[in-house]
Amino acid sequence: MLFNTSNIFIDTIANDCLSEKKISLSVVRLDKIHPIVSGNKLFKLHYFLEEAMTLLIPGIVTFGGAYSNHLVATAFACKTSGLKSAALVRGEKPAKLSPTLITCIAYDMQLHFISRTEYEQKEKPAFIEKILQQFKGFMVVPEGGYHPKGAAGAALINNFIVEDTTHICSAVGTATTLAGLITGAKQNQRVIGIPVLKDMNDIAGRISYLANTTHQFQLLDGYHFGGYAKKTPELIRFMNHLYEQYKLPTDFVYTAKMMYAVMDCIEKDFFAPGSKITCLHTGGLQGNASLPSGTLIF
Ligand SMILES: *Cc1c(COP(=O)(O)O)cnc(C)c1O
Repeated sequence: MLFNTSNIFIDTIANDCLSEKKISLSVVRLDKIHPIVSGNKLFKLHYFLEEAMTLLIPGIVTFGGAYSNHLVATAFACKTSGLKSAALVRGEKPAKLSPTLITCIAYDMQLHFISRTEYEQKEKPAFIEKILQQFKGFMVVPEGGYHPKGAAGAALINNFIVEDTTHICSAVGTATTLAGLITGAKQNQRVIGIPVLKDMNDIAGRISYLANTTHQFQLLDGYHFGGYAKKTPELIRFMNHLYEQYKLPTDFVYTAKMMYAVMDCIEKDFFAPGSKITCLHTGGLQGNASLPSGTLIF
């Protein structure tokens, strides 16, 4: 790995419901890699960074919104790998930069604000061509690392999952992490994705673009709490409960929805007795800074 993974550890969640149902539940704390940078984002960047360094590419240019975990991860990863970084940021430059963007700048990322209409073009070849002219010699990394190389990097996460795990659970945004987990899973392990966007019905198509695998996966639908980065008082209460009860901090965009889904499905007997469930804490805690202060107890 191109970054330090020695801080990753596994949390075990124990309560009466779990022991009654004979289910073990653990959480791989990828968020521990770095206090600000999302764990899974660094994995997704792994092969892009490796290639940039091998080919002596001067820097990486990528895309994201004002609270993008992917942008901070790219800024951080490039800085520590001796590469330059630039970002095309969705929307007009705000009067007050988000904490996320301030961190990106601290890691020497060059920010370029583009209109939402222009941002929509981000996957069009003509637009990519224009970016390459603007950032001479840079490597273009798709938003969220959504690329087979991103999925191959995410497959390295499987090295941190204990052997006897029966179910691997992760939040799904672009599905790049999910594709990696599916590729890297053992034959008898089931991979379960929890979509955090409303009406994500193209996940199978995404997986076949991202990975060459026939390993099955499952989705727990209906846990998006209104859509991407949307939240309800119930979700916030659940986050505070997780922290109070298990000292587990989660983010409201991804990991809280994933944990809610898994615990709800355990209660509803979706998992057979004897299941050993491993959830991935993919990070994202910096995003909680966008919540009014006092919302969370951590
Ligand atoms: C980006 C992100 C995800 C989703 O990863 P994808 O590969 O885009 O599906 C999950 N959790 C956190 C904390 C993230 O930042």
